[in-house]
Amino acid sequence: MSTTVRAAAKINLHLGVGAPREDGFHPLDTVYQAISLYDDVTVSDAGAESLSVAGTPQIDVTGVPTDASNIAVRALAEAPCGGPHHVQITKQIPVAGGMAGGSADGAAALLAHDRLHDLGQPDDVLLAQAARLGSDVPFSLVGGTARGRGRGEVVEPIVDHGTWWWVVVPAAVGLSTPEVYRHFDRLHPDAPAQPAEPTELLAALASGEPVRLARALHNDLQEPAIDLRPELGDLIALGEAEGALRGMVSGSGPTCVFLCDSQPGSIEVVTALSASYDVVLSAIGPVAGAHVVSTREAEWDLR
Ligand code: ATP
Repeated sequence: MSTTVRAAAKINLHLGVGAPREDGFHPLDTVYQAISLYDDVTVSDAGAESLSVAGTPQIDVTGVPTDASNIAVRALAEAPCGGPHHVQITKQIPVAGGMAGGSADGAAALLAHDRLHDLGQPDDVLLAQAARLGSDVPFSLVGGTARGRGRGEVVEPIVDHGTWWWVVVPAAVGLSTPEVYRHFDRLHPDAPAQPAEPTELLAALASGEPVRLARALHNDLQEPAIDLRPELGDLIALGEAEGALRGMVSGSGPTCVFLCDSQPGSIEVVTALSASYDVVLSAIGPVAGAHVVSTREAEWDLR
């Protein structure tokens, strides 16, 4: 038997970062949105313990570990059952791009393993397993638009009346999330303990108005990311000059995302940026969290 689960990339519409806590984590107040770029994870209970990773032609998967450190493999250890398992990951989400691709794979593997073995674990159990795997993994299960607090793992769905059109520009070389946080600390040694709250952003999401949302987007990690990669500032300026309502660094970067006023508006921005950048994608949000897309009998079961 095999089960395939699809999980979406996330962007942060608001990312407020506070001073590091005693455990070293930064307190966050963030608003996540799941957008229509997906990884598929298939877990099969036949064959030897193994992992394979493939990417769509535009995605370089060389940075994805193929050993036990892969987050999808670690996910299977959360509720060990059956096996050995083969895990197949097909990636469309840029790697190390600040879009939580690894977290999406972890969430997808948790759910695929649960459904493959008919475990039927309640949502709160899956969410607790997800939080142990990583701060963004619970959101990858929930999807939609949600507020994240704590390290980002305490997730609460929020009202979102929009269908938002995004243009996504990944960078050829990823940016390390811990490195961006370290640079944030250097730039802001006096950061407040409490991260900035997304008050106006919540109102903009409820209004469904793109211009209002564009004004309310906020990312405390944008400044350190641009300081480490100044070319990201040029990309954001170009996208806005070409008609995007607002461009911003996605999470810890280096992927940049652009909010557009409509589908035709997003096509214009994709066309314009494609003249200078190799990979320019379009996506809508919000979309669903991790969900089963197929369950199949293995060939040898059918004989
Ligand atoms: P974040 O969740 O911090 O925003 P990110 O989106 O910037 O992360 P990911 O694509 O999740 O970046 O990858 C971060 C690192 O995690 C990679 O460089 C890789 O070493 C490791 N990793 C482990 N498992 C996976 C996986 N299944 N897919 C991608 N990266 C993985």
